[in-house]
Amino acid sequence: MDIICQRSQQEAAIAAAIDDHLITGSTEHNKQIAVLMLELRGTARLRAHPGGERAEKLIRRIHQSISKALRPHDRVDYFSDSEAMITLFGINNSGHARLAVRKLLHDLGNIQDEDGYGVHVAPLLGIALYPDVADSGTELLRKAALAADMARSSGQNFLYYDPKLGDGKLFNWNIEQEVERALRNDEFSLHYQPQIAIHNHAITGAEALLRWQHPEHGAVSPGSFIPLAERSQAIHPLTRWCLHTAMRQLSECSNHTVPYNVSVNISSYNLIDPGFAPMVGNALQLWNIPADRLTLEITEGALLEDLSHATMVLDGLRQQGIRISLDDFGTGYSSLAYLKHLPVDELKIDQSFVRNIIDEQHDRHIVETIIKIARDFDFAVVAEGIEQHQAMSLLGELGCHAGQGYAISHPMPHGQFCDWINGRDKHPTSVGAMSKSIR
Ligand code: C2E
Ligand code: MG
Ligand code: MG
Repeated sequence: MDIICQRSQQEAAIAAAIDDHLITGSTEHNKQIAVLMLELRGTARLRAHPGGERAEKLIRRIHQSISKALRPHDRVDYFSDSEAMITLFGINNSGHARLAVRKLLHDLGNIQDEDGYGVHVAPLLGIALYPDVADSGTELLRKAALAADMARSSGQNFLYYDPKLGDGKLFNWNIEQEVERALRNDEFSLHYQPQIAIHNHAITGAEALLRWQHPEHGAVSPGSFIPLAERSQAIHPLTRWCLHTAMRQLSECSNHTVPYNVSVNISSYNLIDPGFAPMVGNALQLWNIPADRLTLEITEGALLEDLSHATMVLDGLRQQGIRISLDDFGTGYSSLAYLKHLPVDELKIDQSFVRNIIDEQHDRHIVETIIKIARDFDFAVVAEGIEQHQAMSLLGELGCHAGQGYAISHPMPHGQFCDWINGRDKHPTSVGAMSKSIR
């Protein structure tokens, strides 16, 4: 049988197994499936070495490492030495899929031969989640493969399929030119999502979230263009624009009586730029904002990529008085030992654990553990993705300090956000309205 025919038969079998699971497993609530298209770049080089036996052993080691990272009921199908389709059945939410992805990337990036020498295989993963992006086995496989293509062409080592990526249209852009043009034409804006104290619902801060209204493509989500910007120089002017805009808008809105903090998302790539810390200092000075009113959010996963350098830069920023928050906490897959040395003020619990906290016991346990960790290390703790009012009360009982999410408010344009803080009772989605319904 030729290779192409064999592969399509394998794919048909995986798709059928998924469809079968969807039919027979339909009584299990909230169970999701993740399909991961895995490519291992570098395995051909292993085969090219003289002594086929050694290559064979190494490839076996790689495959063992994949099996070890999976649970017994997950499935892995190899198309070749360097390509496999992994199916994770019965995961609770996308956060658990992300944990598995991080574990695979970590383990496959650290393969050693029997003499303890590192073997360079660069893993690449394209991921599609059921029911988020597809509802059949065939579609899941197609979208996982598409996500792998997009990851490869944009220089990333993993990518989740996102319908907003328009089947890869964005990846043909010259992102640096696009961002430069968009900055000139004022296509970016910041939307603000309030954060409130859980015990009394007082506003504590707001997260500034970037929005791009593209003249041809309409609203482009940050989840799709930020990863592209991060792989080019475009992330630097973008972050600079976000910081200056957030500080300017904070100063414009500061004549009201409520002092609040603004959180700006930054990328690990910003920390590589030696001009980054001085630029943040300049923005605070220019807009006359005390440093402790600015929080910089960096995702846990991104931070772990180069921990020692990131620690040094974040330390310097904290010495200026700026707060540091660890975003998407809980999905970073790592030993927690690093937390002890980390210059961080706040943990932000990933929304995938918070969203189903009422119905999912597993998620509740994860959130509870994160809150305990935060308490032990003396960090503030913020829950993101609060969609239900009951979740707010439960988070309070668990000892969470602050929260944000659709149950409190969606992100809003700056003007609307200023109105929101100045007259919360007048707005239907306001904390005032919400706190009445909770009591
Ligand atoms: P993030 O920093 O974790 O931001 C939270 C995301 O969750 C936002 O999506 C927000 O709109 C969404 N969200 C808030 N509350 C809820 C809720 O109750 N339920 C659900 N399902 N979602 C909720 P958004 O704005 O699309 O941003 C996505 C990601 O893009 C952000 O995740 C952040 O990593 C990145 N991003 C956004 N703005 C910037 C920026 O200015 N710079 C950088 N480097 N990254 C940014
Ligand atoms: Mg954030
Ligand atoms: Mg987050």
